[in-house]
Amino acid sequence: MLDLIEASGGPIGPTGWMEQAACAGESDLFFAPFAERPEARVRREARARTICGQCPVAVDCQDYARTNRELGFWGGESEAERAEAGFPPTTPIIGRKRVAEERARDAMARAG
Ligand code: SF4
Repeated sequence: MLDLIEASGGPIGPTGWMEQAACAGESDLFFAPFAERPEARVRREARARTICGQCPVAVDCQDYARTNRELGFWGGESEAERAEAGFPPTTPIIGRKRVAEERARDAMARAG
């Protein structure tokens, strides 16, 4: 799977569901800032989880994030929860927020 992601140069799976994302414009809630404290992460992810709980495409989003080993909070699931489910992110910690934002922006652009 990892070889497929690296070879494709883009996301695997459909992205049309992103047009219905309830988190549009809320990327600060879904991607950790540099050196985020654990308490702040808990608060941020709780707010993100609330939005995901009202999102009509949460299942598609979670599948996408797991398949593409995304960073950040997707489909009601944190990076740690995805890793526990067997889908850890593939990106090194350094520069993760920037990489995550670029990947999300690219995916949204492809979907739009
Ligand atoms: S499930 Fe959450 S992260 Fe995924 S599109 Fe919906 S609101 Fe955004």
